Amino acid sequence: MINELKFCKRCLYSSAHPLNITFDEKGLCSGCQIHEEKNTLNWKERIKNLKKIISQYKSKKSNYDCIVPITGANDSYYILHLVINVLNLNPLLVHYNSYFNTPLGIKNLSNLRIKFNRDIIIKNVNPNKVKKITKNTLINLKSMYWHVLAGQSVFPVQTSIDYKIPLIIWGAHQGIEQVGMYSYTQEVEMSRRYRKNHDLMGFEAEDLIKSYQDINEEDIHEYIYPSFDNLKKIGTRGIYLNNYFRWDPKKQHEEMIKLYKFKTSNFNRTFDTYDYVHCYNYMNIHDIIKLYKHGYSKVTDHACREIRFNRINRADALSLIKKHELQKPLYLDLFCDWLGIKKKSINYLFDRIKNPYFWPKKDVAKFKINILSSKIPSKKINKKKKIKINFIKNSELNDNKKANYIIIGKGYEN
Ligand SMILES: [Zn+2]
Repeated sequence: MINELKFCKRCLYSSAHPLNITFDEKGLCSGCQIHEEKNTLNWKERIKNLKKIISQYKSKKSNYDCIVPITGANDSYYILHLVINVLNLNPLLVHYNSYFNTPLGIKNLSNLRIKFNRDIIIKNVNPNKVKKITKNTLINLKSMYWHVLAGQSVFPVQTSIDYKIPLIIWGAHQGIEQVGMYSYTQEVEMSRRYRKNHDLMGFEAEDLIKSYQDINEEDIHEYIYPSFDNLKKIGTRGIYLNNYFRWDPKKQHEEMIKLYKFKTSNFNRTFDTYDYVHCYNYMNIHDIIKLYKHGYSKVTDHACREIRFNRINRADALSLIKKHELQKPLYLDLFCDWLGIKKKSINYLFDRIKNPYFWPKKDVAKFKINILSSKIPSKKINKKKKIKINFIKNSELNDNKKANYIIIGKGYEN
């Protein structure tokens, strides 16, 4: 499957990365090469260019100027901070309810609405449809997160058509930040093709009907991308702020904690306390599936990012990866109850999901661990060494002992 496994000389990504990574003659990966642009581009000039682009979208009728998709974590606060305070736009916020919401995510979302004082539309797809889709994508696509990725990426586009607001503003383009798929100077924009190939693993909603007999048109209706004609009529366009602002998630989140009291929490499977606090599953079941399929997990993404910003050295980053990546995922019971399946079945599924290249079978249900971090030569690994990484933890995913999905969050007192 993988002919010649190669690791970047600077970060810890390899040629097995699923988002098409390339290497230069010095052995630097494309992600590290493009990262260097952060220190060489004239960002002031780039912000000026962005202001020119958005000036044509300013609403003349005191309507919304743009759409901003948000969750109760990720870069939501920072995106809104830039859109409102730096770009002086009036955004309509849109949020796709993933149903895997943590109390902390709902609190962050509610606090964000109060602090920024904006309108929001929340999409709640019928949970029975969501469960049916999730069962199918988990078994067939090896993804329990398809519905979230599909919903989050299509609902803003549908809203653009329905409310006749052409401009959608996203935070960072992952293909650029992780693997340097494009230069910032290309100013790549939202595209249906990228969504299908990378976000949705090659499967759009319509493909689910074709592939799985028990999924019908009614089930996937909410996930269908608007037609080309409708997009053209409204002039829908999605831009990424990381093409115009020097993107640094750690620094940005810390600014948001200070300015707006953004809340954070620890995770077992990574050291980053900021990214996915809205979701019970992203850093747990979804992340272990990533390790089973691709031989690495989110902690490697976080570690590579921190190496590139020179906040950690390669040996310490590898120690952190080894410390976190094999930790057991939490909240499995919660997911099985929600989906209506037995825990036994999910463990059986996990074994089926394991990529034999990274998890060669020893005998029945016993696997050898042959994941990417075990192939990186390093003498200095010390799992017990206390590594200073300085991510702020100021809250918990749950405010009580029993974890539960917050199905529809109506807001918290702040
Ligand atoms: Zn690299």
